[in-house]
Amino acid sequence: MYDYLIVGAGFAGSVLAERLARVDNKRVLIIDKRNHIGGNAYDHYDEAGILVHKYGPHIFHTNSREVFDYLSQFTAWRNYQHRVLASVDGQLLPIPINLTTINQMYGLNLSSDELSGFFEERAEKKKELITSEDVVVSTVGRELYDKFFKGYTKKQWDLDPSELNASVTARVPTRTNKDDRYFTDTYQAMPLHGYTRMFEKMLDHPNIHIMLNSDYKELIGEIAYEKLIFTGPVDEFFDYRFGKLPYRSIKFKFETLDQEKFQQTGTINYPNDYAFTRITEFKHLSGQQHHKTSIVYEFPKAEGDPYYPIPKPDNAELYKQYQKLAASMENTYFVGRLATYKYYNMDQVVAQALSTFRKIRTKDPQAIPAGNP
Ligand code: FAD
Ligand code: UDP
Repeated sequence: MYDYLIVGAGFAGSVLAERLARVDNKRVLIIDKRNHIGGNAYDHYDEAGILVHKYGPHIFHTNSREVFDYLSQFTAWRNYQHRVLASVDGQLLPIPINLTTINQMYGLNLSSDELSGFFEERAEKKKELITSEDVVVSTVGRELYDKFFKGYTKKQWDLDPSELNASVTARVPTRTNKDDRYFTDTYQAMPLHGYTRMFEKMLDHPNIHIMLNSDYKELIGEIAYEKLIFTGPVDEFFDYRFGKLPYRSIKFKFETLDQEKFQQTGTINYPNDYAFTRITEFKHLSGQQHHKTSIVYEFPKAEGDPYYPIPKPDNAELYKQYQKLAASMENTYFVGRLATYKYYNMDQVVAQALSTFRKIRTKDPQAIPAGNP
């Protein structure tokens, strides 16, 4: 008899398995329908021996000391600040849009103060920022919106930015200084030996049993357990009772090239050309030395593995129905990007899992009292 059955061995499931086993001495079975642990953060060495991320580039960044300290128990880190260029009008320009982007694009020599004025002259003032279009046009105006955001967003989501919540494009800020880093979080680093190694360490505990290639639906009747933690798609769990929640998928096309380096930065975005959104070269992220290099193209699509919840009002309404049903279930917890239908980064999922662990403990009379570790 297991104390917990955990469905999904990504960040949500693995953090909870680790905490329940290590801190509370619970017996945990963690299952995944894939043939590996790590969920979408899984990485592996390809045929050429280059570390690649099977489900697209994953760059770790967080402002949470708690999350960073927690993960640091299972990995050492390599400092890495992600930089991205966007291919616009035949030039490669830094994104997030910053002072260098504008000066390079228009052949200007503006100062930061002058750039604020430049944006103000072009920005379309809005009373409220409701959509992803509002966020960008109210900051930098329509021309830059058209060149950097409109086409990329259409490709990524098959939606116009005016149909998506403000939170989507708000992930990419605008700056008047020369800071060209993609993220400005306090902690930005890559697991030194990769994500999968980190997950292996997390799950390495005598109380944790791992079962791969196992779909929860197919073996649920055969396993004895007391409580369930589900980290897969919430609508699938409930057999699509209220209808399908829309997710966006991606086809990843990997290539290994017989050259040491392919591009100047980890990622180059293509907002306006081609069917793919971006190309990432993994050696920038890992720092690996190799005479070849591996890259991945991302082609967004509607069908396929669910990768992105789609943040728009009608989807949020539909999710609320599932959320209510999920909350009414005894001894069952829904955690993670798919189970809570949130466009969460890895660190947010770790934080959510740690907070679920605290919640579970307060309900468990047998849990070791707080403060003990
Ligand atoms: P997942 O990793 O999806 O894990 C869920 C697991 O459940 C999966 O392994 C799945 O196989 C399993 N499962 C589902 N249904 C069943 C079932 N019925 N039976 C058994 N198992 C099941 N975040 C960042 O912080 N930085 C980034 O740079 C970044 N880049 C990203 C790039 C892409 C292309 C994508 C798609 C995501 C990116 N993310 C990034 C987000 C990151 O992947 C997620 O936040 C994180 O992996 C979510 O973890 P999770 O455990 O909630 O879900
Ligand atoms: N975006 C864009 N142009 C860019 C980069 C991002 O329009 O060059 C928009 C797009 O809608 C994208 C969103 O901002 O989906 C969030 O970008 P991010 O890089 O955070 O996406 P993720 O890495 O999660 O795919």
